[in-house]
Amino acid sequence: MKSIKIPVALIVSVVISIACSLFLLGATETTVYVTNSGSKYHLETCTSLSRSKIAVSLEDALKSGYQACSICKPPIPSQNKTRLTQTRPQQPLYRVNRLNLTASSQGEISRMVPAEVVDPVDGDTIRVRIPNPPPDLKTVETIRMLGVDTPETVHPHKPVERFGKEASDFTKEQLLSAQVYLAFDWDLRDRYGRLLAYVYTADGRCFNATLIQEGYGHAYISYTFQFIDEFKGLEQAARTGKRGLWGDL
Ligand SMILES: [Zn+2]
Repeated sequence: MKSIKIPVALIVSVVISIACSLFLLGATETTVYVTNSGSKYHLETCTSLSRSKIAVSLEDALKSGYQACSICKPPIPSQNKTRLTQTRPQQPLYRVNRLNLTASSQGEISRMVPAEVVDPVDGDTIRVRIPNPPPDLKTVETIRMLGVDTPETVHPHKPVERFGKEASDFTKEQLLSAQVYLAFDWDLRDRYGRLLAYVYTADGRCFNATLIQEGYGHAYISYTFQFIDEFKGLEQAARTGKRGLWGDL
C-alpha cells in the first residue's frame, strides 16, 4: 500500500491561509491575495491566483514589497494616507515648571523624552542620542544638567578643580550608555545652545539631585529653577555629612 505524502510547504501555506482568513474576519482592513511565488498582490477573483491564493492585509502586502497586479487592479493606498499612519502624534515636552512639581521625585519618566547617553563630557554635562526627537530637539544633543554645578575638569583656561575628576568619573560610571529620560524647566537652552535638562535614570531618580546629594557638586542657584529649594537642602545635607566635595582635606 502506498502512503500519501503531503508536502510540508503545502501544510504550512494552508495553515497560514486559514490563520490569515480567521484574523481578517475580525479586521476592518482591506484584504488582498498573494501567491507562494509571485511578487504582485491581487483581488480574490484574479485569474493569476490559480496556483495558490494567500489572503493578507493590504498593509502587510505593501510592507513585504508586493506590487499591485496590473490585470485585476487591486486598491493602492494614496501617499498621503500612508504618510499619516507613519506620523506619530508628538507629546509636548515634559516641563516641571508647567506641572508645578515641587520635588524631583515627582517626575514621571513615562512622559519624558527617552535618550541614550553617548558621552559623559563632565560631571554635569553629557552628550545624548535622542531617537525620534520631538520638534524642538535634535538627534544628538549636549545637555547641561539643571540646578547643579560640578567642579571643572574640561575648561580650556582653568586648571582642574578639586574633586572635578571624581565628579566626572562618577557621571561616567553611572551614565555611560545608559537609557535616560529628559525633563525640562523654564529655559530649554543656555546661551551656548546646550539643552538644559533634568536627567532621570530608569529607576525614576533624578541624576541632577543625586550629584548634589552625594557631594559631587553644589546647587547652582545663579538662575532660579523649579527644584531650587530641594537642591539647596540636598547640598546642606551633603555639607553636614561631609560627603564628597565637602569632605575633610
Ligand atoms: Zn491580479
